[in-house]
Amino acid sequence: MNSVSNTRRPAVLLLGGTSEAGAIASHLATHPDLKLISSLAGRVAHPKLPTGQTRIGGFGGVEGLITYLQQEKIQIVIDATHPFAANISRNAAAACQRLGIPLISYVRPPWTPQQGDHWQDVPDLEAAAALTRSYHRIFLAIGRQELAPFATCIHPWFLIRTIDQPDVPLPPNAKLILARGPFHLADELRLLKAHAIDCIISKNSGGPATYDKLEAARILGLPVIMVDRPTPPTNNVHTIEAVLSQISTELGRLITKY
Ligand code: NAP
Repeated sequence: MNSVSNTRRPAVLLLGGTSEAGAIASHLATHPDLKLISSLAGRVAHPKLPTGQTRIGGFGGVEGLITYLQQEKIQIVIDATHPFAANISRNAAAACQRLGIPLISYVRPPWTPQQGDHWQDVPDLEAAAALTRSYHRIFLAIGRQELAPFATCIHPWFLIRTIDQPDVPLPPNAKLILARGPFHLADELRLLKAHAIDCIISKNSGGPATYDKLEAARILGLPVIMVDRPTPPTNNVHTIEAVLSQISTELGRLITKY
């Protein structure tokens, strides 16, 4: 059988911004049978760059992504973006469908409540903001980009943690701390106790890096308002191994086409 490396190495676009995308890039950047390009949204000022070739910034919607895929002669797309990054996932699905390019979608498994957890699931951040009046001191751990629904919440005091400085107005009674995970249980317990937090608002991002605040909430008996994910892409896989296996399958298909 021909090896792809004996012909032209197919270009693979990896939509990233997650630790899992970084792990996939580590596996594939030196793969002899493909050329990998990682793509980051450019949301954080100093991103952890993945191994290998990387581009940063939006493509310009579906049409821009289609143009990019054509220009770079991309033959496989891997979507390993954050579970709340629904727009880029939707755009990737539309662009791949239009061009007939295989799309491998990785979705990080969501967190599920354990015994002792007091979670209230809400569909979106607006619904979470509507519940804030019931609490006095809220730890708002939802990142930087989606703080807007809380800007008019005047009743509770908020502890807000983001990686970079938010560029939207914060609620009037708030303290901002800038920090990047992973966060560890002892530190999360200390943070919650030091600020007398009585509720946490979290997105159901999944993964280990930001989970320990939920374990701390369980230990302290604190309620958690948990924001559900947007609808995930169809035909997704939940492990890095499954992504690598699908890549092998797609490469095999491409080899037989040459
Ligand atoms: P989004 O709403 O899905 O994407 C908005 C736009 O950003 C996309 O339409 C695309 O712009 C660009 N974009 C997103 N990911 C990209 C990538 N990997 N490469 C190139 N362009 C990309 O996602 P978001 O605005 O970044 O974030 C939405 C939610 O996801 C937030 O809750 C955020 O906290 C969470 N999140 C995102 C990331 C991330 O790396 N994106 C990481 C952690 C958490 P064009 O339409 O111009 O192509």
